[in-house]
Amino acid sequence: MAVFKSIFFLLLLDICKCAIPGTFWHITDQHWDPTYELGSKPEAVCASSGQRPAVNPGPFGDYVCDSPWHLINSSVYSMKQIMPDPDFILWTGDDTPHVPDQDLGVEKVLHIVRNLTHIIKKVFPDTKVYSALGNHDYQPKSQFPASSSYIYHQIAEMWSDWLEPSSQVTFKKGGYYTERLLNRIGYRIMVLNTNLYYDQNKLTDNMEDPADQFHWAEQVLTDAAHNKERVYIIGHVPPGFFEKKRSKPWFRPEFNQRYVDMVQKHHPVIQGQFFGHHHTDSFRMFYDSEDHPISTMFLSPGVTPWKTTLPGVTDGANNPGIRSIEYDTQTLLVQDLVTYYLNLTRSNLGRGGWEKEYRLTESFRVPDASPGSMHWVLQRMAGDRCYLQKYYDFNSVSYDLSECDAACRVDHVCAARAVEFDGYRDCVDEEGAGVVHGASTAVLISMAISMFWWSW
Ligand SMILES: [Zn+2]
Ligand SMILES: [Zn+2]
Repeated sequence: MAVFKSIFFLLLLDICKCAIPGTFWHITDQHWDPTYELGSKPEAVCASSGQRPAVNPGPFGDYVCDSPWHLINSSVYSMKQIMPDPDFILWTGDDTPHVPDQDLGVEKVLHIVRNLTHIIKKVFPDTKVYSALGNHDYQPKSQFPASSSYIYHQIAEMWSDWLEPSSQVTFKKGGYYTERLLNRIGYRIMVLNTNLYYDQNKLTDNMEDPADQFHWAEQVLTDAAHNKERVYIIGHVPPGFFEKKRSKPWFRPEFNQRYVDMVQKHHPVIQGQFFGHHHTDSFRMFYDSEDHPISTMFLSPGVTPWKTTLPGVTDGANNPGIRSIEYDTQTLLVQDLVTYYLNLTRSNLGRGGWEKEYRLTESFRVPDASPGSMHWVLQRMAGDRCYLQKYYDFNSVSYDLSECDAACRVDHVCAARAVEFDGYRDCVDEEGAGVVHGASTAVLISMAISMFWWSW
């Protein structure tokens, strides 16, 4: 009887090609600061403020501080309350606070990673977690070696319940791994250690392919195409540019180009890319040589509200955010994103908790989160000030509600449109000059279409 049932189910699937919806969580950049303490002088509430005064500290934190444990705890339990049984969880790293290396040390970093691992495991004991290392999950920070190390080994042991034996081998060698997604035939996840490509990493300077990761990833994607698999890629530091600071990339140029080449070559199998590091809510588009949208990288907001000290960024804090992702389990197409957040000011006053911030398809009026739809979102951002402002408000998780002016528009549009260095430079020149040709004509067309969209 069971056999007939399975055959019937398979036939049904084949006939209707039904989308079977699934959901998962993406969390990133918790940055736990164990020194956070109320009742101290404003400059001494937390080490991560670097002496900046915490003006509104409360149980959930302060905008100049990394996360107190209470904030991290509340985020994980809210995940459990909102969506208790996700298909899996993506966790893209940065667990430790923004403090000088000498104030942490290897064992303290491992202690922090262990505590965060423990709470996720405790609250989601039966859920598979795919976890990538952030640049703060090492000592000295960002200095990831291109070969096996004590920290890779320790974290591989810590995550052994989540890692298959083959994943442990590559993780210990270079902090990366691949597995069948949920052990299903035809589906795969590739977890990258892009900290090896970060321009702050002195250990991989002048290397062509640190830890052989590109060679390995190319092989994984080639095999995936051969085996008719669909793949998600996750990592921490993303390629491309920071949207809050003009011309600020993270990767070294040659690594950035190699990543773009890899996506362009293998895009038919890549169904989604999920990264962190920015602490902001944004996305990056990838195009083929004929400018067709081929892939989207979703950058999820961080849990820490910490105001960045990066020179040139004014008021770069955010409200704490977590994200659920709805997808088609048959194709891995990303259907929708729902971001939940905590208004830090209100929550510290006891007037609110974790709540829905927005749903992509509702707020941006697209049918799904496919590359084609996200391309439309980008075109409308470029051509419609109201639409751009909505994106901008969400970018800081509804923290910075100031106007996104002309320069801000160029920063955000070009960061989302061009991951390649040359393409970004051209975009800034063109959008910044306001020249009415080429892409700018597309902007005018998209403005006309926006008016149509908004009218229904
Ligand atoms: Zn971070
Ligand atoms: Zn980071």
